[in-house]
Amino acid sequence: MSIHRIKVLGIPFISTLIGISSLILVQQKHLALLILWNVCFILSVVLERKFSWLRGLQFVFLGAFHYTSHLNWCVLLYYILLINLIQHKAKFREIMPLGFLIVLEYTVIRLTYMPATMYNLLVSVFDFITSIVVILGFLIIIQIESEKKKLCSENDFLITHDPLTGLLNYEGYMQAVYSLVEKKQEFQLVLLDINNFKSLNAKDVSSANDILIHLSDVIQSIFPDAYGLSRYAGDRFAILAPLEQNINDHVLNFDKLGLQITFSITRYPAEADTLQGIVIMAEDRILHMRRELWVKSQQDLMRSEKMKVIGELAAGMAHEIRNPLASIKGFIQLSKSKQFNIEPWYEVIMNEITRVGELTAEFLQFSKPQANNMKIESLTDCAARVFSLCESEAASRGHSFIFENANQAILIHMDRDKMIQVLINIIRNAFQAMAHPGEVYFRIKAEEQAAVIEVRDTGVGIEQHNLSKIFDPFFTTKEDGTGLGLSLCQKIIEDHQGAIGVESEIGAGTTFTIRLPLAKG
Ligand code: ADP
Ligand code: MG
Repeated sequence: MSIHRIKVLGIPFISTLIGISSLILVQQKHLALLILWNVCFILSVVLERKFSWLRGLQFVFLGAFHYTSHLNWCVLLYYILLINLIQHKAKFREIMPLGFLIVLEYTVIRLTYMPATMYNLLVSVFDFITSIVVILGFLIIIQIESEKKKLCSENDFLITHDPLTGLLNYEGYMQAVYSLVEKKQEFQLVLLDINNFKSLNAKDVSSANDILIHLSDVIQSIFPDAYGLSRYAGDRFAILAPLEQNINDHVLNFDKLGLQITFSITRYPAEADTLQGIVIMAEDRILHMRRELWVKSQQDLMRSEKMKVIGELAAGMAHEIRNPLASIKGFIQLSKSKQFNIEPWYEVIMNEITRVGELTAEFLQFSKPQANNMKIESLTDCAARVFSLCESEAASRGHSFIFENANQAILIHMDRDKMIQVLINIIRNAFQAMAHPGEVYFRIKAEEQAAVIEVRDTGVGIEQHNLSKIFDPFFTTKEDGTGLGLSLCQKIIEDHQGAIGVESEIGAGTTFTIRLPLAKG
């Protein structure tokens, strides 16, 4: 219950009661005056909100009423007015002189109807002092209360606001949405996200903070009528804007700041009509947009990576083809200008042409459309086929070729022709690595998670510094090599979700190991 209500309800009752008491207890000679001042006083209190100038007259009417009633109980009325006054102006300097005057008014009027004895005088003095002490006490209490209120509201501010930008934090943002939904006030919830913020933040935290502060200033100037502005979760901004505000135009302006911004707009109550509904829908939308953006940037990156690889391949290819072409051209020029007989060199020329043919054929393997002959097939059958295909070459070179197939069927998801090509490539490399008759072990086995293929030779081995290069296109140590075999193998094995590795010791031999995932089910 507020002091004002106590005043408006209590004063008419108390002052009328005092009026009646005065009639009964005091030989009242001024009945008409008593009623007049009582009514004037009551009206000045009841109507003070409508006519504020009445406030100043309240003490005059009360004084007149007190003077006419001749009763000390009027002190209660003085107190009610005083307390009300203190509540309005809690300033010590303003209240003390006023309070002093009012208590003085009461004391002086009181002395007019009391017999002027020493006792009465002393009672009045002590009443006066008591009143002043009471006012002081009340003032102190009110001041403590108002300090407390101030602290509370400061605390509330801290709880609901973001210290960096001064906008609402997540809690404040939720409260703002809640109160709009409670009031059924239409609005649009705009979520903003800075796309490249994480990288900005990683570079320099203080400049990232500057960006946030700057962006929050811009947002505040763009949306002066917003029902709420918030920053939360680092770089996320939420704007609760009136429905009629055109967001798109404004958000485009952010480009000028050099920031890439993703935003989503969700309307209440048209698109979602509950607190959770609208918040979740807005978050979902922006998440979706961010994901699309990420996928797109990832695709761009992949495209540029691919272009790089293609560029490298093409450069290597051009280089490889230019050499044989140059020698062929040389022979033809000789024969044309000097009538030189190139017949004895036909063999060499033919070899060069074959080499160009082989190079292009192998190179084409790279650009062949993605294998989609992937089926679940038996690796053991496939390996047996490879063994039979390579046996004769091993024999003609004088190598012993030892095949150790798994004793159970191993099923993997594969393009059989490509897998055969990979294994032949590796086995032929092994044959070629042995200048003198040697041994090549070809082994298939199944482990818990993977099928393992091993090709081990007793050849020259690979120099340590070449180990990292052997899978590069065009890397070869052979006179007539293309350097495409292993890089093609690696690509095919990766297409099969597998991995290829190599271990080698100079003079002792080399082992290639391929692991492929087993087919499920
Ligand atoms: P190419 O056989 O045309 O040279 P590859 O890509 O098949 O191209 O092989 C690249 C290089 O890797 C070879 O030139 C050779 O130096 C090295 N290499 C591959 N397999 C072996 C092996 N089993 N032993 C020794 N060196 C090997
Ligand atoms: Mg090869």
